[in-house]
Amino acid sequence: MIKLHDKLFKPFLKEEEIQLAVERIAAEIVKDYKDEVPIFVGVLNGAFMFISDLLKNYPHPCEVSFVKLASYRGLISTGIVETLLDLPENLEGRSVIIVEDIIDTGRTLQELVHLFAKTNVKEFKIASLFFKKEIYNGEYSIDYVGIEIPNKFIVGYGLDYKEQGRNLRDVYQLNQSHMINLVLFGKPGAGKGTQAAFLKDQYNLLHISTGDVFRFNIKNNTELGKLAKTFMDKGDLVPDEVTIKMLRDEVEKHPEANGFIFDGFPRTVDQAKALDNLMDSKEMQIDAIIALEANDEELIQRLLERGKISGRTDDQDEDKIRNRFEEYNQKTAPLKEYYETQGKFHSVNGIGAIDEITERLGNVINAIQVEG
Ligand code: AMP
Repeated sequence: MIKLHDKLFKPFLKEEEIQLAVERIAAEIVKDYKDEVPIFVGVLNGAFMFISDLLKNYPHPCEVSFVKLASYRGLISTGIVETLLDLPENLEGRSVIIVEDIIDTGRTLQELVHLFAKTNVKEFKIASLFFKKEIYNGEYSIDYVGIEIPNKFIVGYGLDYKEQGRNLRDVYQLNQSHMINLVLFGKPGAGKGTQAAFLKDQYNLLHISTGDVFRFNIKNNTELGKLAKTFMDKGDLVPDEVTIKMLRDEVEKHPEANGFIFDGFPRTVDQAKALDNLMDSKEMQIDAIIALEANDEELIQRLLERGKISGRTDDQDEDKIRNRFEEYNQKTAPLKEYYETQGKFHSVNGIGAIDEITERLGNVINAIQVEG
């Protein structure tokens, strides 16, 4: 086990296995390109070690160059925003092999393909040492793949966790056995967002509020935002298909997280099933569903008060609030039974001072950690 910053990583791939994959890719490229002089373009920083070993195994004339892109990873990823080191200039009529350390969702690759498609290269191919096939959703097929890996967070051989680990000869994966994943459950106004803000700091977790992600998209006028708004304005739930995909994207943006607090998700049995599947696919699990209990009249008062400050239109109108409760009773309440069957449902009194409620939640979480 090794430690980088605050996280532990366990061995995943040995140097020898990596070198075999590098040699194999080099041999495949030799076969395709030995009669011309290709340009290898490494994508910095991650690919520096791979491209170095790859070229040591490429015995014919070739050239080498680099590009560097910066990807923006905010609440909703917009993909790549900046080219930090631009394409080499001598590409006209040449065959280019783009050398990547890892391809996961394919967002960076899409941008690279876009960049190269604008040049007048003869052709370009993609070589990636690692490939997370199960989460790749790009259209471009990868020409040379070293090793297919599951969707784990890995470091070493050029890949980093917060810039550390690139120098390691072997590859390591994040050790997730100490992760905690929580669902905060309860009607609108129960205090899920307020409490999540405290718990995330206390337990070093990542807070995902589907309502906040929708509001962020509405504010930025994205397609997702425009769609969600039509439902949210009435106090209806956004369709499962849209919400589930969005949630999965949010989780996948943070493979380094210590655990998640899901707030406002799941809200239907289908969402709960999708969440279980997502956790399974990542060898993670939901540890507890903690419900914040409060009566409707108290909640309506809280929401109307919040509506005056936050400006949320769905909080300002009692009819819309009642409709959200109606949605909750019909679609969300059945989740209690779903999670009770799994032995994961816990209930906490959501009325009282904010810090008292945080303490009640902390007691439940600590008890789970002791059991785990
Ligand atoms: P919230 O901020 O959690 O109160 O959510 C505000 C609104 O966003 C809800 O009334 C729904 O319209 C929408 N929304 C948030 N989370 C979900 C979800 N898991 N499923 C469907 N709609 C959601």
